[in-house]
Amino acid sequence: MKKFFKAILILILLGLMIFKIFPRIGLYTFIFDRGPYEKIDPPPDEIISDLDQLTPKTKEVAEKFLYACQVQGLDVRITETYRTQARQDWLYDQGRSRDGNVVTWTRNSRHTDRYAFDICKAGADPYGDEKFFKSCAEIGRDLGLNAGYFWTGCQDMAHFQLDTWWNH
Ligand SMILES: [Zn+2]
Repeated sequence: MKKFFKAILILILLGLMIFKIFPRIGLYTFIFDRGPYEKIDPPPDEIISDLDQLTPKTKEVAEKFLYACQVQGLDVRITETYRTQARQDWLYDQGRSRDGNVVTWTRNSRHTDRYAFDICKAGADPYGDEKFFKSCAEIGRDLGLNAGYFWTGCQDMAHFQLDTWWNH
């Protein structure tokens, strides 16, 4: 019986390592999804919207997403991809220790891991068309992206992220 519990404990620890700790420290990204990024240190108010700054798999899905949207007649523009931690912290401070509206709920964003991008509608009124974002979110979901449109509680219509390394 003791042996049995030991085995269960080892399984739980293994599971934690494989599914929680390794992804958290970016091990899988480092092994399976490493891009040729150069180290950059832009000022925190500078927005990066270059798909090359995403992990290769995220970029691949983002390009499929853009193509699928285009086919559906949805004129999508990428507004932001990779965020430095300095920028995420700077955004987090907005509406808290700095003036402005609260724009983020977290310091731990998938943008800082290069696994997220934000979109808007090209042209005038980039955020006014809710149906546009819904259609985009459905396309993103079909491609395996986690679409902020479907988040309950803190909906983020413009946001898409790739969640798990084993998805693709
Ligand atoms: Zn976002």
